[in-house]
Amino acid sequence: MSAEKSAPAHAPTNQFAVLAGEMSVGGQPLSRLAARVGRTPFYAYDRSLLSRRVEELRAVLPASVKLHYAMKANPMPALVGHMAGLVDGIDVASGGELKVALDAGADPREVSFAGPGKSVGELRQAVAAGILVNVESFREIGELATIARELGLPARVAVRVNPDFELKSSGMKMGGGPKQFGIDAELVPEALAEIGRQGLAFEGFHLFAGSQNLKAEAIVEAQQKSVAAARRFMADAPSPVRFLNLGGGFGIPYFPGEQRLDLAPIGANLAELAASIGTDMPEASIVIELGRYLVGEAGIYVTRVVDRKVSRGQVFLVTDGGLNHHLSASGNFGQVIRKNYPVAIGNRMDAADRESVSVVGPLCTPLDILADKMELAKAEPGDLVVVFQSGAYGASASPQAFLGHPPVVEVLV
Ligand SMILES: *Cc1c(COP(=O)(O)O)cnc(C)c1O
Repeated sequence: MSAEKSAPAHAPTNQFAVLAGEMSVGGQPLSRLAARVGRTPFYAYDRSLLSRRVEELRAVLPASVKLHYAMKANPMPALVGHMAGLVDGIDVASGGELKVALDAGADPREVSFAGPGKSVGELRQAVAAGILVNVESFREIGELATIARELGLPARVAVRVNPDFELKSSGMKMGGGPKQFGIDAELVPEALAEIGRQGLAFEGFHLFAGSQNLKAEAIVEAQQKSVAAARRFMADAPSPVRFLNLGGGFGIPYFPGEQRLDLAPIGANLAELAASIGTDMPEASIVIELGRYLVGEAGIYVTRVVDRKVSRGQVFLVTDGGLNHHLSASGNFGQVIRKNYPVAIGNRMDAADRESVSVVGPLCTPLDILADKMELAKAEPGDLVVVFQSGAYGASASPQAFLGHPPVVEVLV
């Protein structure tokens, strides 16, 4: 076989220990874990890594900053239950997620609901539950006023702002320019007046400028601009600001050459911001709401090799799962140019015999790729392919019904 150039080093994956040549999750060797799950493919999430990530963040964030989990990154109920015990609150993006958050034991006072197009039914659920709604349109303000009167309950609201700036070098932009998210910054005074007129319980602002950012300076700048914007809006607020939600956007490394986010400058900046709002917004807490950063590195996707084929000199490992379970790793979830996630043969971590292979799923489409010409341990049918950095935007963000294979199993270890 022609020697292909070896793949460059990928993002760090040393969070999972290797025991006797096998990678392990929560102390369990992969082959044993696969046996206890009973079938492949599956996602495994490591409890201790989730806990450790929250501890690491707490160590650099000022104590006054509230840490929320944006559960759309991974809504598995057992995982949300674990996270609910670690963070200060949960951010939900639908009525379905609200149910999971409440089932998990989240305190409704610390649950917030963001997302465009909240239905009347979802807004009713939110008011009845007593959670905070980040309003994103004048329609939502009007609906909430009606619902609050009907139910005889306060409608707690914050204004989600579509800022007039965006998070630089962010993987997915969610602010700046025309957007479906939030109320345009220039219309915020009018929204605040309407909230006051309708007698809604105003509690603060939500500004979220983007996602998957690995540059601390860009996050610091966006957070400074967000606080400055909240200061401008404050004068028009019908009551004191209690929550200043600065969103998330903290990225994790996926691809060759990407480095872990440097938290120290972000923590220092948040400490300064928290101190600076102490005088003009004495009742306000800063909230950051993170999805990917909290859970992404704690999860793996595991799929078994079904076939090993050689096509015109190129080796293909065909696995029992692919983009139907892991759209992100296939490169079809928000990537412009497809790059390989970190991948390994999980039961052959120390193997010296390596080769360049493409790992493809079982779907009848050329889009179903998990690894494109990567150097991996030489594998055979029955071996276990592991995709790292898979704890966020995995199972729930994938088209599981596509081609009619069974849904993926998820375990929390
Ligand atoms: C998706 C989302 C998040 C989480 O984004 P991550 O990039 O996963 O941290 C936070 N807040 C809101 C409103 C979101 O929609």
